[in-house]
Amino acid sequence: LSTRLSDPRLFRQYAYINGKWTHGSGGREEAVYDPATGEALGHIPLLEAEQITAAVDAAEVAFVQWRALRADERCERLLAWHDLLQEHREDLAIIMTLEQGKPLPDARGEVEYGASFIRWFAEEGKRTYGETIPSHIPNAALGTLKEPVGIAALITPWNFPLAMITRKAAAALAAGCPVIVKPANETPFSALALAELAERAGIPDGIFNVVLGDAPEVSKVLCDEPRIKALSFTGSTRVGRILMEQSAHTIKRLALELGGNAPFIVGPDVDPKEAAFAAVSAKFQTAGQDCLAANRILVHESIHDEFVEHFAQRMSALTVGNGLDSEVDLGPLIHAQAVEKASAIVDDAVSRGAKLVMGDQSQAPGPNFFMPVLLTNVTPQMKVWKEENFAPVAGITAYANDDEVIELANDTEYGLAAYVYTHDIRRIWRLLRALEYGMVSVNSVKMTGPPVPFGGVKQSGLGREGGATGIDEYLETKYYCLGAL
Ligand code: ADP
Repeated sequence: LSTRLSDPRLFRQYAYINGKWTHGSGGREEAVYDPATGEALGHIPLLEAEQITAAVDAAEVAFVQWRALRADERCERLLAWHDLLQEHREDLAIIMTLEQGKPLPDARGEVEYGASFIRWFAEEGKRTYGETIPSHIPNAALGTLKEPVGIAALITPWNFPLAMITRKAAAALAAGCPVIVKPANETPFSALALAELAERAGIPDGIFNVVLGDAPEVSKVLCDEPRIKALSFTGSTRVGRILMEQSAHTIKRLALELGGNAPFIVGPDVDPKEAAFAAVSAKFQTAGQDCLAANRILVHESIHDEFVEHFAQRMSALTVGNGLDSEVDLGPLIHAQAVEKASAIVDDAVSRGAKLVMGDQSQAPGPNFFMPVLLTNVTPQMKVWKEENFAPVAGITAYANDDEVIELANDTEYGLAAYVYTHDIRRIWRLLRALEYGMVSVNSVKMTGPPVPFGGVKQSGLGREGGATGIDEYLETKYYCLGAL
């Protein structure tokens, strides 16, 4: 991998603890594969429990000085980190495409997106205001201070290997908290490149650590550790539940960004072609491996057939291939199990009466690739409806009226994002209020970015990342009462 980079030192095959590149003390290792080719890209050490504890020791020591810095001093280090990400954008994108599979232009976009959170929180760190409280106690002054919560563990997924780290880490670091990052084993090299750049940016030893290992084993140590005060996780609802349970003993501050099962609602009044093109882009980005992916496309019956035609036409223009090749829209899925799961979801739908309009898997350019699938006549009994498919499988259902579509859209344990396409202001307002989702995007596929509070309701999670509130996940409110004044 390093031969493809203009700065080969960005490719590291070690964990990063207390500013040192670290082997696994037990000698255990794991290979990391390019999902497009199946080639091994490199190896990572699987750390032992004592090594995770050593990372906590280091963070505990480093915390003392990091929290004591002025906010503008932390801001400068974070901005230096941001600038280094921009400077090394191409190398970071290559690393990401190799380990994750996404097309190179998308990987470049993720570097920009990931860097933008660092800039945002660098600035937000200067605005962690407390309050002055009008006193109800005679001769007293009351108020609040915002203080860093302490060491934060960040457990991140493989679909956005860089941005899911920066969105958490920048908030924590700006708040004055050290972090221990556990990236997904599928995509560790983006995280390690971030560590290399954090070091170059002057982020002190022990403040940004990356630990690697067997995921359940490492996560258990992180959850059991009382010195870790906050845990921020992005990943599946299944793993989120495990982490929540394990964190109960130490009463951690939790931020959980879990699965989604986004409805994409198309009203009767919109141009079916415009809405269909938007739905294709909301469904197939990152080959559908996105918690915001439009999983259930709900189209008013009056324009359903036309919508399906345009959707299929747009879909047929999508190219599938190695993300390093130019003009590729969909890279591979992350691994063979993901392909198996996608196939099973399609088979289940077809066996229950869905119509397979498009998606011939014999065209797939390799074992980890899955050709985009279009299913119509999808019903709530099917897996494609109930589960987050995390694959390029689009399911379309017709509905008759707003009451029905609200019921259909909310018929899921998830509540992350919903899309609405209509120009009728009354319908917009009604849906906006009735949809049980943390985020509702009306007439726009793009909705995320640093200024917005990203997060879900129901079993899509707890807390919000980004925006003015994202930094609160890493801050405690300390109330003071100055009496006898
Ligand atoms: P999967 O990789 O099984 O789809 P997730 O997408 O939820 O699971 O993974 C997100 C993060 O959770 C990754 O860093 C992964 O290594 C970690 N993880 C996976 N399984 C567990 C587990 N049983 N306990 C703790 N962490 C886990």
